[in-house]
Amino acid sequence: MSSSTTHTGDDSDKSVHTFTYSGDSSDYLSDSDNDLPPETEERLWRGIDRSTDERCAHGRPRRKVCWGGRNTGRRFLGCRLEEDGNQCSYVKWIDAEWPERVQVSFKKLWHQSNQFMRARRHCSNELRDALAAKVNMEQRLKKSE
Ligand SMILES: [Zn+2]
Repeated sequence: MSSSTTHTGDDSDKSVHTFTYSGDSSDYLSDSDNDLPPETEERLWRGIDRSTDERCAHGRPRRKVCWGGRNTGRRFLGCRLEEDGNQCSYVKWIDAEWPERVQVSFKKLWHQSNQFMRARRHCSNELRDALAAKVNMEQRLKKSE
């Protein structure tokens, strides 16, 4: 008689997910040099830049930090206007390009982040549908009482 719960050590559930970055255009984070870099704000690098003589068509540029793709974390100066479509395409990088290995790693991380976000949306939708079905069923049970 086998008394122990056999744990076969089958880790099929936790298999290492190998990751390949295809770099296809479906990546929501475009890294094209023609697009404005996705941006974020940082406490130590924000506001209108007064330390350089840089200007865009709208005056002194705004300090920004790239938040997406291979340039993640690089500081740059960009148009002072808000992201409302009126921004001009002015971009002046402050930090030098990251080493290629870092750029590739950032792209992988953003790709994975994108996958997780998609999975989370999918789970939210599933949960919403399941709750709706539950409510529906409870209402039908009440009626049939
Ligand atoms: Zn501008």
